[in-house]
Amino acid sequence: MKSKHKKFLKKLSKFAFKSGKLFPEDGYYGEFGGVYSPEVLIPAIQELEKNYKKSLKDKTFIKELFYYYREFCGRPSLLTRADRLSKEWGAEIWLKREDLNHTGSHKINNAIGQALLAKRMGKKRIIAETGAGQHGVATATAAAKLGLECTIYMGEEDVRRQNLNVYRMKLLGAEVVPVTSGNKTLKDATNEAMRDWAKTVEYTHYVIGSAIGPHPFPAIVRDFQSIIGVEARKQFLKYNGSLPDMVVACVGGGSNAIGIFHGFLTDYKVRLLGAEAGGISDHKGENAASIMFGTVGYFHGTKSLFIQDDDGQISNVHSVSAGLDYPGVGPEHAYLHQIGRTEYYAIRDKEALDTFVEVSRLEGITPALETAHAFCLAKKEIEKYHKKKQKPSVLICLSGRGDKDVSEVFRLIEASK
Ligand SMILES: *Cc1c(COP(=O)(O)O)cnc(C)c1O
Repeated sequence: MKSKHKKFLKKLSKFAFKSGKLFPEDGYYGEFGGVYSPEVLIPAIQELEKNYKKSLKDKTFIKELFYYYREFCGRPSLLTRADRLSKEWGAEIWLKREDLNHTGSHKINNAIGQALLAKRMGKKRIIAETGAGQHGVATATAAAKLGLECTIYMGEEDVRRQNLNVYRMKLLGAEVVPVTSGNKTLKDATNEAMRDWAKTVEYTHYVIGSAIGPHPFPAIVRDFQSIIGVEARKQFLKYNGSLPDMVVACVGGGSNAIGIFHGFLTDYKVRLLGAEAGGISDHKGENAASIMFGTVGYFHGTKSLFIQDDDGQISNVHSVSAGLDYPGVGPEHAYLHQIGRTEYYAIRDKEALDTFVEVSRLEGITPALETAHAFCLAKKEIEKYHKKKQKPSVLICLSGRGDKDVSEVFRLIEASK
């Protein structure tokens, strides 16, 4: 790796809440990132950047954030040794337990952080987009806890598929707006949320759910999620006296992955592996693996890798897991991939489903279908080490619990019989 990249990674890897600095200041990760938003959103984006920079230097903000991490979210999350899985797969496997967070995934780390930021900025309302509803529930939860009004945009198709999460959000006091434009899923909900924000920025903050969107969003989301990697590195060293051979996470927009990778960015011997949604085939429209199959483009305010046609029209995507069903990936992943610091592989729906069942039976932990992609990638990589007669140590980011997926998985298993 070139020394200019190593220098950049060194700065990037500093934990924002310790260094007090927004990085990268200009929002560019190599050629990726930046601000490519409509004119109407620029004042809101600039206000957010100014306030976030100030918050990073404010000890009371950091203290408050860590108070909520500890007393509300349940952090630090455990690092669990996966004994039976280790034996069965022939490796030393450790799990970073984001499934044990309040609301059941890593999403709350970011939602509570941005809700606190909104409150500091004097906003009385937060809005968000949601696909499966996990980010919507986390945002509605943060709003209830901090006494903020909350509106969640959700594609009409997803409202129908995920009605339990719709009731949860309503119960928490949020308004859920079904989006009927486009193909009525996540990307259309994101468009609507951005439209709302442009009109109501005076009293509204837009809580984006992954490490995507215009600068400074990818940096803010990564900062809030990097608590995963900071904790995991410390815990892993404490239990093992050494670092893992590889860290594995699933990648939708890329927030849980960037969060755990950040703890290990400059530990060059530690391989950082992302599992993308390989869907049912490598053909366009049948997967959501934006790094594997995407091209450079501009969407939702950022320059990154997207699944699109030759004219830059964003394509439909598919994944068995709603949380990975997004046609792009955060700009920081696009950069880390380009310089060769991280590696990405596509995992098929069927492989993820099989691993979902296997992990449940071997560990007594049912991972989210998203997370099952990460487990499956770990399993396949371990097999490569066996060919070299090696037994690797592996850290897997267990991004969320799988209760939400149980009925869908049973439906699919029945249907395939
Ligand atoms: C939303 C979600 C993901 C995918 O989002 P990222 O931003 O890529 O982390 C992964 N796992 C779980 C459990 C989720 O809820």
